[in-house]
Amino acid sequence: MTDTIAFIGLGAMGLPMASNLVRKGFRVIGFDLDRAKLDALVAAGAKPAGSLADAVREAGIVITMLPAPPHVRSVMLGPDGVLAHLRAGSLVIDMSTIDPATTDDVADACRREGQTFVDAPVGRLVSHAERGESLFMVGASDEGHARALPLLQAMGTTILRCGPEGSGTRTKIVNNYLAIVGAQLTAEALLLGTKLGLNVATMRDVAGGTTATNGQLMINFPSKVLKGDTAPGFTIDLAHKDLMLALAAASQQRLGLPVGQAAASALGAARGGDYAGRDFSALLDYACEIAGV
Ligand code: NAD
Repeated sequence: MTDTIAFIGLGAMGLPMASNLVRKGFRVIGFDLDRAKLDALVAAGAKPAGSLADAVREAGIVITMLPAPPHVRSVMLGPDGVLAHLRAGSLVIDMSTIDPATTDDVADACRREGQTFVDAPVGRLVSHAERGESLFMVGASDEGHARALPLLQAMGTTILRCGPEGSGTRTKIVNNYLAIVGAQLTAEALLLGTKLGLNVATMRDVAGGTTATNGQLMINFPSKVLKGDTAPGFTIDLAHKDLMLALAAASQQRLGLPVGQAAASALGAARGGDYAGRDFSALLDYACEIAGV
């Protein structure tokens, strides 16, 4: 029989994920500062804990799904926190989206206390968590990954191992950077299209059928860059020209497009060096060169 799981943090994501564990036959004891959230998990079949310490004392596995780094730090490392009460040899999985330094501190503390630590932040939306279709970015040792896998599979459909402890957290912040800046870029593009009299649904269809839907990552990198093909196709020069066409159209509409303007300055600088005739996937090489990587 698997150890009891103490599930800490039963918010928008934690509650459906813990409920899926209960549904799939795991023994779960829940804890949240908000009593109403704990009651909702109890209604799904879990046992309630009156305190964090009570939850952890009963468990051999702890899963945390908390808002931000200070919550994780105090729940894990605080004087009455997880590591103060957990029996040695247990498994600790943090699924919160936090910074690498906090994850590394928690991982080190777990190691010192003889616990196995896994960082497994979550991709996708609340609706996916409800259906047990989350994506996990896992940072773990071989042992940690093997122990966490059945639990993650009960809550998600896509489990991607990113490297050792800490690499899940690092992957998550990079992925969110891409998603969030992409969301701002999408807002700017749709704003420009709307101002030009275009239909949002049609713009979406066109973008979905072209490299606009992050074709750099999804098409250009696998088909060219990862195969070592540096032959210029769509060059940085052409990309710069097309970006300037969009920015000129925006300017005529009296629109400022901050992400577009930042990209124009980066592409302009790349063209100014010896990147002008290169494939626009070489923007990554240029960014690495500037960063000294
Ligand atoms: P939320 O604010 O809905 O839930 C957090 C829960 O933690 C709350 O119920 C709160 O009462 C509880 N909590 C806070 N401090 C606590 C403590 N000391 N002890 C016990 N419980 C405590 O947040 P969420 O949307 O569930 O997100 C959780 C994490 O998952 C965040 O790091 C978030 O960035 C990440 N995430 C969220 C989504 C999403 O779509 N909401 C998607 C992916 C990842």
